[in-house]
Amino acid sequence: MRKHEVALGRHALRLPGEPLQARHCGAECAEARTANHLRAVQKVAGLHRKVRRQRLDHAHKTALGLVREHDVIAHEDLKIRNMVQAPKPKPDPEQPGVFLPNGAAAKAGLNHSISDAGWGVFLTILHAKAESAGREVIAVKPRNTSRTCPECGHVSAEKWPTQAKFHCVSCGHLAHADTVGTLNVLRAGLVRRNANPA
Ligand SMILES: [Zn+2]
Repeated sequence: MRKHEVALGRHALRLPGEPLQARHCGAECAEARTANHLRAVQKVAGLHRKVRRQRLDHAHKTALGLVREHDVIAHEDLKIRNMVQAPKPKPDPEQPGVFLPNGAAAKAGLNHSISDAGWGVFLTILHAKAESAGREVIAVKPRNTSRTCPECGHVSAEKWPTQAKFHCVSCGHLAHADTVGTLNVLRAGLVRRNANPA
């Protein structure tokens, strides 16, 4: 701490127009920089811990709320592990030894958002709480859940609907994409439940 303050003090003595490193930046400044850097690293690590703690706390509260209010909870059985794996290198057929862009950068963004959401952690907590409260949690295959019309059952050809609005080309049903996905997951979960009564 004191080193840092001393170093700053010395910089403050610098004459106007004098280059920053002219006289005083020797080993002490380097040390101060290292100390600053270390402090910054520790601060960031502390923030990460805080965020993790808050996220975990949030996951616990959300799971508890769901378990208290619902007897049956359905969720998409997302293969988190598969999704966070790095894409395989794609060889260029025309140039041996050369690799084509494989979407690694885009995938890295996806990885980040998935790890960030802590979906797997949340599901683990939810399953544990549901089990101890005697509630049912049903994992549903996410296939077509976002592109099936909940009104008429038409499956849209669009593979990954990206818009917030769902518009059925067959019956004209219009809804929020999240509502459609959720409804489809719940229905699929109830179908599974009725097929294998506990
Ligand atoms: Zn429809």
